[in-house]
Amino acid sequence: SDSRIKVRKSNDELYDLTVNINKMLDRMQAYTNQQKEFVEDVSHELRTPVAVLEGHLSMLQRWGKDDPEVLADSITSSLQELKRMQSLIQEMLDLTRVEQIDSEYLEQETEVEPLFTQVYNDFKMLHPDFAVNFDDDIEPGSKVKIYRNHLEQVLVILLDNAFKYSGDRKEINLAASTNEALLEVVVQDYGVGIAKKDLKQVFNRFYRVDKARSRKRGGNGLGLSIAKRLIEIYQGTITVESVVGSGTVFRIELPIVNSELDKNMANKND
Ligand code: ADP
Repeated sequence: SDSRIKVRKSNDELYDLTVNINKMLDRMQAYTNQQKEFVEDVSHELRTPVAVLEGHLSMLQRWGKDDPEVLADSITSSLQELKRMQSLIQEMLDLTRVEQIDSEYLEQETEVEPLFTQVYNDFKMLHPDFAVNFDDDIEPGSKVKIYRNHLEQVLVILLDNAFKYSGDRKEINLAASTNEALLEVVVQDYGVGIAKKDLKQVFNRFYRVDKARSRKRGGNGLGLSIAKRLIEIYQGTITVESVVGSGTVFRIELPIVNSELDKNMANKND
């Protein structure tokens, strides 16, 4: 790119140094471009709620004095729009936070079973009319190398989506199983599904399949990008399969903390 230092190829140290500096400049340029894109995306996303809010307030200004119905409606709608903006701002903050996670988190371990029981109970409490089948095949005591709140955040995002896009069939499968190496989690719904052309993009920030519909549902298109980033930081994977009209399956894999294996490794290193 244009910020690079020009240098003629040679075999000396100055040339090597210049090549390295140019690599650093490229990385900085890439970072700056990412930041720029992010600011552009954010501005774009905020434009709609701000315009909607302006619409409600203009109504209020013009007819609010004379028409009590307009008065009440405009205020209710304005508050709703403000709530939406608040959740958008909160999720954008979450996203920038997961871009830079403190290294101390990476060393954390979380016991699988209690977390799943809690997440399952919380969901049942929030959505009592939903059938949640919890298929628990977790080896007692097994742990994953991830900060507890981060795993909880990912599970809540996936369950929340399964709920939001469930359609008429109010049923979710949550399955968790462990072996010596991996925790596998499956979150399955029987809802609206995702078309093939959208599947690749659902993990992109601000991506929503149906902007109008998910806007009503309050989605910002950030949940899955946060989930993916969090899982990948901890060396895990997250994938999705879906059939339009039949439902969607999200699958997570995370490395298990294998205490026996780790002990053996430690002994060998002695
Ligand atoms: P949102 O806050 O809009 O739900 P996400 O990043 O969590 O944002 O999801 C991105 C988009 O992917 C959603 O807007 C929705 O269109 C689609 N999506 C996510 N989960 C599901 C699901 N379980 N079933 C159908 N569509 C889904």
